[in-house]
Amino acid sequence: MLCLRHLVRCVDTHVMVVSVRYHNLYYWNQMFVLTNINDSIGSHLSSTHRSQSLFKNKNLISMTEKGLYVLMPYVVKAMNKLVDIIDDEMRQINAHKISMPSIVAKDLWDISNRWEESKEELFRLTDRQKTSFCLAPTHEEVVTQLVSKTKHLSESHLPIYLYQITNKFRDEIKAKHGLLRGREFLMKDLYTFDANEEKAKETYDKVCNAYENIFKRIDLTVIKVRGSVGNIGGKYSQEFMLVSDLGEDEIYKCNVCESAFNTELIDNTDEVKCLTCNSNDLKKLNAIEVGHTFLLGTRYSHNFNANYISNDSEKSRKVFEMGCYGLGVTRILAASVEVLSQNYSIRWPKSLVPFRVCLVLPKKGSKEDVYNGTEFSLDFAKSLTNIFNEDVFIDDRTNQTIGKRLFGLQSLGFPYIIIAGKRITEEIPIFEVIDNYRNDKYFMNHLDCIKFLG
Ligand SMILES: [Zn+2]
Repeated sequence: MLCLRHLVRCVDTHVMVVSVRYHNLYYWNQMFVLTNINDSIGSHLSSTHRSQSLFKNKNLISMTEKGLYVLMPYVVKAMNKLVDIIDDEMRQINAHKISMPSIVAKDLWDISNRWEESKEELFRLTDRQKTSFCLAPTHEEVVTQLVSKTKHLSESHLPIYLYQITNKFRDEIKAKHGLLRGREFLMKDLYTFDANEEKAKETYDKVCNAYENIFKRIDLTVIKVRGSVGNIGGKYSQEFMLVSDLGEDEIYKCNVCESAFNTELIDNTDEVKCLTCNSNDLKKLNAIEVGHTFLLGTRYSHNFNANYISNDSEKSRKVFEMGCYGLGVTRILAASVEVLSQNYSIRWPKSLVPFRVCLVLPKKGSKEDVYNGTEFSLDFAKSLTNIFNEDVFIDDRTNQTIGKRLFGLQSLGFPYIIIAGKRITEEIPIFEVIDNYRNDKYFMNHLDCIKFLG
């Protein structure tokens, strides 16, 4: 029989579980792929495909088919951090997360006329009853139908912001550059429903602002570029672009008013003028599209009869003014590594780095190991997980010398590597700390390490 004391303890434990996120030590030898790391890179590493080459060379991704990848634990950790940042910014604008099915019926796409309009990039499939479906690249139809079913919505329930972060599909002709252009990828898509055009524009600015915050938090400098609405349709669209030689989009940036637009918007390339100020003083740049925002108008809400009860005296029904907003999550991760990395080493944005700290244990049987250096280091690493609320990576390949392990470690992009080297046996044990972001090296005891990392 349970006594009261036991019950109270259960409640305590439960409270702890929901309020604290546990952090742990991760060991090299247990992380599956890292045990197989290939450090002999260099000759075939192209300077314009850094993210792909680095991820592949370090066995952080594995291709199953063209444009389809397994992401290994180390990359998934970074991806989860990016998802956390996006969720956080979406909470700030009161957007709510949902999850919609990836398989969407042709019937639904016929209502918006997108089934016929879509080119070969749409993955199409048929079930055993011969009903046609697609693997959805976006979800305007599903979400608009969902909202259209809720007939009780009045103007005071608005705006409605619904988003998801799920895998999307595109049958790319040119699946290349690794995670930058895959056929299945993680995407965040937000759909907004407002009472009128003015409110929809306010929403548009609010979401763009949230997107700018996301890019700031991951150290990416993006520019907003006027884009084509393409087959999603609507009144107006902008793309968030990362200027890079690897980019497949071409944009014009105006030297007079600083505005930018996609070359897709230009018919005659002989005489290009700025769409904002009419100047012809333009710079052509290559860029990677990492986000796309659309002011949709009523294209979908009209076709799906998605409406709300207005606050006017007649309580008339009005169709929603919609917006949709995409972020290529997989692509952002790859693009950030692409622009920040050096040729032989991955560099992550600080807010996405899978592990901030790697602690290198002494070689087994060495003086440092025998004189408690290993035990002291592991205790210290454990305390770091508690103090900083983060996971710490342990290099436990203790059958090798530290020097031999260091090169591979450096190239994985840990901001800080803490080594239990020769001075770990001193009366007050001293660690060697490599600061890879400042390219510097320090010696300090464990207390100074904590201050340094704080
Ligand atoms: Zn201009």
